[in-house]
Amino acid sequence: MMSQTDAPEKTPLVKEIPPKAKDLSDWYQAVCYKAELVSLAPVRGCVVLRPYGMGLWERLQGALDSRFKATGHENAYFPLLIPESLLMREAEHVEGFAPEVAWVTHGGNEKLAERLAIRPTSEVIIGTMYAEWVQSYRDLPILINQWANVMRWEKRTRPFLRTAEFLWQEGHTAHATETEAAAEVAQMLEVYREVAEDICAVPVIKGEKSSTERFAGATHTFSIEALMPDGKALQAATSHELGQNFAKAYDIKFAAEDQSIRHAWTTSWGMSWRMLGALIMVHGDDRGLRIPPKMAPIEAVIVPIVRGESEDVTRAARDLFATLRAAGIRAKLDERDLRPGNKFSDWEMRGVPLRIELGAKDLEAGTATLVRRDKEKGAEGGKIAVPLADVAARIPGLLDDIQTELYAQARAFLDGHTLSDTDRAEFLAHCKNRSGMVEIAWCGRPACEAAVKAETSATTRNTRPLGDAAGPCVACGEPATVRAYFAQSY
Ligand SMILES: [Zn+2]
Repeated sequence: MMSQTDAPEKTPLVKEIPPKAKDLSDWYQAVCYKAELVSLAPVRGCVVLRPYGMGLWERLQGALDSRFKATGHENAYFPLLIPESLLMREAEHVEGFAPEVAWVTHGGNEKLAERLAIRPTSEVIIGTMYAEWVQSYRDLPILINQWANVMRWEKRTRPFLRTAEFLWQEGHTAHATETEAAAEVAQMLEVYREVAEDICAVPVIKGEKSSTERFAGATHTFSIEALMPDGKALQAATSHELGQNFAKAYDIKFAAEDQSIRHAWTTSWGMSWRMLGALIMVHGDDRGLRIPPKMAPIEAVIVPIVRGESEDVTRAARDLFATLRAAGIRAKLDERDLRPGNKFSDWEMRGVPLRIELGAKDLEAGTATLVRRDKEKGAEGGKIAVPLADVAARIPGLLDDIQTELYAQARAFLDGHTLSDTDRAEFLAHCKNRSGMVEIAWCGRPACEAAVKAETSATTRNTRPLGDAAGPCVACGEPATVRAYFAQSY
């Protein structure tokens, strides 16, 4: 039974997108609904991924999947349900996930003898299978990725950022040695950085999580962290060394070359549709989404400007559409019965990188007008007249420019909001005011991190080696052991 307070919300009807700078959260939700990326579902905490949102997810999936395969991984699929007794075997892991697990207690009308967890992540079920599959060092490494949905009971719903059910991929590997496992974790973190920066045009900071921020059951957790326009960090992907913890809990053992029996070294790594949330917040503006071309379900939209009898324009627009499709461009022809101006703002709101306007005047001149979404209205180079015959050939270069420009803008924001403090008061003020990524020499002590969090709400996002610079921790004065990025986070 659903209590009154559990009643799901209805998707709000968005008439106009509020200014981004005023309230990022209002702007974000409005864009997600108005651009038809998602709708709120009749189940609390869940969203429906609509076709345009699915198009974005499929672009991200494609970019990741091809890289997983290029680095030797294969896809497989494991069950959604995990028996409670299995989940209980890795103590830290259980403790970390217990508050968020949804349980299946009945099959039809019958109460189950053992509760089944809906997977919050799949280390447990996959580890159990690996124990069955691995006998000898010859069976290693196992390099598997799973595309799946997972469930973590959430009270608040924010599209892509916080939902009870979400889509992700989880890689799970088993190796004969710790060195191999560590190399795998580093390799996949680099894949995530590349997809975030080169495909999503979202610059990130790569590093290791502190012990308190570590994945439950891992020995080392690494992450990529992006900075949102409100000064909060967003963890965009993680890659974990699980040591032999899961291998011991789930009995993944193998006979080594010298016949000795050893536990395998395992890893896991994941990126979810949260990355889309980062992309939306980083690139969007007051007119709506701005999608980097490599992520865009539609790269170029053709809007014919038809007034009265304009058969010529319609025919030319259809011809151009066919030409672009044949050239492998993800193009769309908008022949809806709407005013051109309304179509312009609609596609701007949806963030399509390039708009191609084609009217009687253009046709007379033998050109089309190309409008870039990355440029401000009226900005130089924002509107270009291109001979009709050259449009298909010009588009790839323009899309590259837009991709580069969006990354450059995001990079400038991150660089401009990465502060290296050496003064304690300044450090705390920057953390409190969400000034950005605040980098300091840090002691690495959980107590120090907790004190900073209590005072400012900021936590360490990730850390990197100290290098040569020995000295005191900026937060507490104890000897520093690493450089750490502090920020408030999503
Ligand atoms: Zn400290």
